[in-house]
Amino acid sequence: MSPPTLIDAPSTPTETPVALSYELFPPRSDAASATLWKTIRELEGTAPDYVSVTYGASGSNHDTALDLVDRLQLETTLRPLAHLTCVGGTPEELSTTVNALVDRGVRGILALRGDKPRDGHVPAGSLRYAQDLIELIRRVELRRSAQFAAGKVAIGVAAYPTKHPESPSEAHDIEVLLAKQRSGADFAITQVFFHAEQYASLVHRARRAGVTIPIIPGIMPLTSLRRILKLSELSGVAPDAALVDRMHAVGDDSGLARQIGVEASVALAEAALDAGAPGLHLYTFNEHESALEVLARLDLPRPSRPSLARRQAN
Ligand code: FAD
Repeated sequence: MSPPTLIDAPSTPTETPVALSYELFPPRSDAASATLWKTIRELEGTAPDYVSVTYGASGSNHDTALDLVDRLQLETTLRPLAHLTCVGGTPEELSTTVNALVDRGVRGILALRGDKPRDGHVPAGSLRYAQDLIELIRRVELRRSAQFAAGKVAIGVAAYPTKHPESPSEAHDIEVLLAKQRSGADFAITQVFFHAEQYASLVHRARRAGVTIPIIPGIMPLTSLRRILKLSELSGVAPDAALVDRMHAVGDDSGLARQIGVEASVALAEAALDAGAPGLHLYTFNEHESALEVLARLDLPRPSRPSLARRQAN
C-alpha cells in the first residue's frame, strides 16, 4: 500500500501543451526592420513561449541584436531568448555582455560557441567552447542571484541531430551535450535536420548517456530550393536528396515547390512530436507566412493566454 502522504496522480492526465518558439535575426537595414516588425506582430498572435534573437559570432550585429531584444521586451508581449556566442570573446567582455542582458531584464540565454573565424584563429585568452560560456553565465548569475527572486537564468544550448562539422563523431557530440548539461544548461534546441529519424536518434542516444534536459527540434519551413541549399551551406547539414529532386523538378517559382516544402516541414514536425518532442522551435528567416502555414497544419495543443486575448479584443 502507498504511504498515506503520497498524492494520487489524476487518472486522466491533462494534455501537456507543446512549447512553441521562433528564431529571428537582427535586421540589417530599415527595410528589413519594417518587414521584421510585420513578422513579429503576426507571430505575436500565436502566443509563442519565447522568441530567440540571433547574435553574430563576427561581432558585426551585436548592437542591433541588443536593440531588438530591448524592443521585444518594451513593445510586445513576447519573451526574448538572447543568443550569445563566445568565440573570440574574453571572459571580461562576455561578463559585461551577460550583465548587460540581465540589466535589460533578459532571463533566457542561448549559450553558443559561434562559428570560428574563417582563418580558424581563436585569440588567446578567449573562451573556446559553449560550455565555458555556460559556466561564465552561471558565475554572473550567482553574484546577482538576489535579483532573480531565487529564480535563475534559463540557459539553452545547441544540439546536433547530425554530426557537428568539426566533431570527430556523433558519440562525441553527445558527450559535449552531456558536459553542457553538467555545466548548467537547462534545455537544448537542435540544428536543422531533414529526416525525423535523426532527431529521434539524437534523443535516444542522449537519454541513454544521461542527458535529461528537454531537446527541442529546430524546424525550418522549407519553402524553396534556394532556401534549402542556403541553409545546408550555412549549417553544414546535407539536404534531403529526394526532397531536393522533387522541388527541382517543379522549379522554385512554380508555387508547387513551396507546397512540397511546407508539406515536408509539417511531416518532419509531426514525426518529431510523435518521437516525443516537447516543443517546436521554428527558424523563421524573419518571415511569418511559411511559419504560420506550417503551424496551421499542425494544430498544436497550446495554452490560452488571457492577456493576449484581451489585447486582441481591444
Ligand atoms: P560547442 O558546443 O562549443 O561545440 C563546438 C565544437 O567543439 C563541436 O565540434 C564540439 O564537438 C567541440 N567541443 C565542444 N566542447 C568541447 C570540449 N569540452 N572538448 C572538446 N571538444 C569540444 N551561431 C552564431 O554565430 N550565432 C547564433 O545566434 C547561432 N545560433 C544558433 C542556434 C542554434 C539552435 C544552433 C543549433 C546553432 C546556432 N549557431 C549560431 C551556430 C553555432 O554557433 C555553430 O554550430 C557552432 O559551430 C557550434 O556552436 P556550439 O554552441 O554547438 O559549440
